[in-house]
Amino acid sequence: MRRRAFLGLGSNLGDRLANLQRAVALLASTPGIEVVASSRVWETEPVGGPPQPEYLNAVVLVRTELEPDDLLAAAQGVEAALGRTRGVRWGPRTIDVDLLLIDRVALDRPDLTVPHPRLLERAFVLLPLLELEPDPVLPDGRRVLDQPVPGGGARPVAPALEVPGG
Ligand code: AMP
Repeated sequence: MRRRAFLGLGSNLGDRLANLQRAVALLASTPGIEVVASSRVWETEPVGGPPQPEYLNAVVLVRTELEPDDLLAAAQGVEAALGRTRGVRWGPRTIDVDLLLIDRVALDRPDLTVPHPRLLERAFVLLPLLELEPDPVLPDGRRVLDQPVPGGGARPVAPALEVPGG
């Protein structure tokens, strides 16, 4: 079964824009994943964790035949390939890949919670998501647009990431 999924990308170490772009290329080269579109690139202050550089964030829409667990494994494979070292929680990272929404899938496990538990709390996730999906509906039927819009000073700083073959 082919599902639509929205993935959140974030980077605040090294060449942040190149990291986001490489993540998209790696996702697109993963069997069972087709990258359909990217949001613009947004810059945001880090939330939580130690003092650290600002993040660049984007959201990508993919179509996938992978089951959610395999999609998570693919996302973690991209993180590993881009050299993310798991250090301080909420500390700086070369690339972070989060599963935000997978169609109407709802999962509540420590290793995989979908929709992403912080989806509605973070402007840097929500604003790029709304560029790709103007009226997202959560698995429980709630509309994202009916929820309070988080603050947080996210601002668009670059056009959409390149989608291979797009
Ligand atoms: P983080 O350090 O924020 O990237 O968190 C990574 C951990 O969160 C991993 O151990 C994942 O198994 C877990 N996790 C739970 N739900 C999700 C999700 N929706 N997307 C990505 N990671 C998730």
